[in-house]
Amino acid sequence: MKILVTGGAGFIGSHTIVELYHAGHDVVVVDNLCNSSRESLKRVAELVGVAEIPFFEADIRDRSALDHVLTEHPCEACIHFAGLKAVGESVTKPWEYYENNVSGTLVLLDVLRQHHCCNLIFSSSATVYGDPAEVPITEACPKGRCASPYGQTKSMVEEILMDMQKADPLWNIVLLRYFNPVGAHPSGQIGENPNGIPNNLMPYITQVAIGKRPQLGIFGNDYDTPDGTGVRDYIHVVDLARGHVAALTAIERKCGLAIYNLGTGQGYSVLDVVKAFEKSTGIPIPYHFEPRRPGDIDSYFSNPAKAARELHWTAQYGLEDMCRDSWNWQKQNPEGF
Ligand code: NAD
Ligand code: UDP
Repeated sequence: MKILVTGGAGFIGSHTIVELYHAGHDVVVVDNLCNSSRESLKRVAELVGVAEIPFFEADIRDRSALDHVLTEHPCEACIHFAGLKAVGESVTKPWEYYENNVSGTLVLLDVLRQHHCCNLIFSSSATVYGDPAEVPITEACPKGRCASPYGQTKSMVEEILMDMQKADPLWNIVLLRYFNPVGAHPSGQIGENPNGIPNNLMPYITQVAIGKRPQLGIFGNDYDTPDGTGVRDYIHVVDLARGHVAALTAIERKCGLAIYNLGTGQGYSVLDVVKAFEKSTGIPIPYHFEPRRPGDIDSYFSNPAKAARELHWTAQYGLEDMCRDSWNWQKQNPEGF
């Protein structure tokens, strides 16, 4: 299948393109490079053994640019990663987040339908569940109030996509709700490249390991969890990438609207991650406890059974693999790309 990949130069997009090539698909990438670089796609090309990945530096809000791309490269499906994703920044810049993530998606959808490309996979997030009534979280769990404008944009785009699919059953739309993507391609050639001080746990740990930060601050040790630190469902980015390839099979089956959690089903605490990192790399991670981070909840992990049943997809990598590959990427690329 030929697939338009928006945001394909980013962390999850670049890993997904590798897996799409391995599965025999073709891609064309649109990215405005606001949070990524061309270098990631050069490395993807090397990894999959092609001269270059078809790429347009363009913004998804630019209707004529998208029209041009789809005229030159007719596509059967779109995997839509493009978006701003920093939770804290979204609190201080809500307009920018709504405009980029929601308005940008509306423009993209309009151009896609004009080109009769009505198959879409959307990068959603487990954040749409808000503070879930129970864990593990199944797709049947009602959506909740998101703690940030970022989360709200994901939830709103989901609603827009559901309404569009209801109104026009020609659309096949898969909403993938990611849990906590970490890790990197085992080659160490592509990975996550955060700007400035990392907000997320794993890149913070790898920056402590490489000596860029003195120690990890653990946000809260009085949660209702076995060791008091927050529990999350970390998923290796290569597993997540393969989840998108599996989701294409739902599109091929003309799924209408389908929702899947992509997680391992296993919850690990912050201290579990620190210990797993130390074990798999041999590098000690100094840490201290800090107050809880506003908006965080105690425990959050998926029930991934629906994706296993319907997409024949399950995560293969464990926590130590995620730590090893995150470190492998960080140590080979101390300054990112
Ligand atoms: P990323 O920032 O590495 O990738 C997003 C890409 O989109 C970047 O390359 C960026 O330059 C591009 N982009 C942003 N706005 C654009 C626009 N208007 N036009 C064109 N390109 C644009 O982030 P990621 O971690 O790879 O996340 C990919 C998607 O998955 C995002 O939608 C994100 O919200 C979602 N998601 C990520 C996580 C996570 O923890 N990483 C969790 C859940 C959902
Ligand atoms: N966390 C932490 N220190 C950090 C970053 C994160 O203790 O520097 C904790 C955070 O409170 C949560 C877990 O690590 O319990 C995962 O946080 P992250 O920001 O990676 O993902 P989230 O689940 O919040 O999207």
